[in-house]
This record gives sequence, structure tokens and C-alpha cells, in this order.
Amino acid sequence: MKAIMYHYVRDFGTSHFKNIKGMDISAFEKQIIYLKSNYNIIDPSLILDANYLPRDKDVILTFDDGYRDHFDYVYPILKKYNLSGIFFLSTAVLHNKALLVNQIQHLLAFLPLDLLYDELICLLNQSYTEDEVDNLVFDYSKESRYDDARTIFIKKILQFVLPDEIRIGLVKSLFKKHIPLNENDFIDYLYLSKNQIEEMKNNGMYFGAHTFSHPHLAELNYKNQLIEIQRSIDDLAGIGISSDFFCYPYGSYNDDTMKILFNLGVKFAFTTDPKECRSLDSNFSIPRLDCNDITSEQLSKYD
Ligand SMILES: [Zn+2]
Repeated sequence: MKAIMYHYVRDFGTSHFKNIKGMDISAFEKQIIYLKSNYNIIDPSLILDANYLPRDKDVILTFDDGYRDHFDYVYPILKKYNLSGIFFLSTAVLHNKALLVNQIQHLLAFLPLDLLYDELICLLNQSYTEDEVDNLVFDYSKESRYDDARTIFIKKILQFVLPDEIRIGLVKSLFKKHIPLNENDFIDYLYLSKNQIEEMKNNGMYFGAHTFSHPHLAELNYKNQLIEIQRSIDDLAGIGISSDFFCYPYGSYNDDTMKILFNLGVKFAFTTDPKECRSLDSNFSIPRLDCNDITSEQLSKYD
């Protein structure tokens, strides 16, 4: 079985944030047509059946972060082909709070990298000594498969390295200064509304929890992980959704996370480990292939 992970699906030609990484609507539909003709896109509830055994050709579609894109573009295409998927929600959004991860992404997409980097260093210099800032740069500027060193530095520093109150304050002030949307407009533009979730749910789409505020769970102690996970499960229960499915923000988790999910009755948790899923025995570490990493040809390599 292959679980496939999608984030943004939109018309990048007309988007204000062209540098956001995602999939164009037409490429998404093409991928769905390809998957439908070469694989068996299953209804996600099938894996909840104790008798289900993953088959090579089975595919599960998953969509992270509860973007409005999923209502506007994904849902109509899934309906058109009579398909379903799992949509993972970080529930702070339901309380009118934008996720820091998205604010950081949009800053990176909207501003020249040098400008954002220099401004961040300037802001850090106001709270830290020169040596401390140098150490941060040294420790957290390691390029990855996806991002250059400066982008990685900005993401890590603002996502989890600095104490919460400092990094949240920095993101808020950078966002306010540079992004031409206030937080409420940003929320309307970016995320699914409760009504949209309701409509999707009533038409065969599945939802799962993705924490409250989208933290790196492995960086949190047991108690704070529990708060993050429990809150999202409770919020979803409040709108009639049971959290059989969970997905780790940034693919970050540890033994504590799995213990908590087990205790809270979650059945399956999805990672960002780009592999095929051969068995459902490790039900809290279901791997997923990234939609942008896979072309039709590459997908068939996983057969
Ligand atoms: Zn996410």
C-alpha cells in the first residue's frame, strides 16, 4: 500500500504566493487519473477493518494542514472521480489562530531570502549577544535535501529553536510588517472553514488530527505532547469527527507520542518517511510518499 501526502494544491499561475511549494491543480488531476488507472485508490476507512491486508496496488490519499485549497480544488476532483482521502487538521485554526508554520512559509515565499535573513539576524541581535547569534547560525544553518542553509536557519529558529514566546513574537512582527493580510484575512484565505469541513465530511471525506498548533512533537516533553494531541482530538470530537487517524507535524515523533496516541484511541498515525507501506503492524508509523517527489515513472518503481 502507498500512502501519498499532499499539501498545497492550487493554481500557481494566479497565486500571490508563487514560491509556496505545492502542486498545480492540473498536475494534481493528472496524478489522480494516473493513480486511478494504475492503482487502487482505496476508501481510507478500509484500513480500519481488522481483516484488511495492504496490497501493493492500494493507495491512500492524504492531505495535510486543512488548507482551503482542499475544499476549492481537491474535494471537487475527488468527487468527480468518486474518491476519498484523509484530511489532517491542526485545530488551532478552528479557534481563529493561524499556524506559525504557515506564517513562516508565507514570509519565505513573499520576501527575498536575503532580506528576511538579515532582518531576522537584526531582531536576534536585540535579544541575544553577538556570540549567541553566531552560535545559533553555526548550529542551525545546515542545508537539507529541500532547502538551502539560510532557509533552514530561518525555519528552525522560528519553528522550534527559540523559546516559544520569543519566536512567536518574532513571526508575528515580521508577518505584520511584510504580509499584506491581517491574521483574520490570512485565516479566511488559507484554511478550511467549519462549514467546508462539515460539507466534506458529509460527502465521504475523512478527517484526522494533526495536533493543536503544529509543533515538532519530538521536541516537547510528554506533558506538552499530551496537551497538543488531546486538544486536537477534543476539538475534532466537538465537530463530530472521531480521530481514528493522526499525522505527525513535520514527521516529528518519539515513543511518548506513540504511547499518547495509543492511550487516546487513535488507530493509525502517518509519518513523512517516504516509503511504501508493506504492513500495518506498526500502526503508528505509516510511511508516506510525497506527491511532488513522485512522477508516474517513480511511482511504478514502488510496485
Ligand atoms: Zn502539517
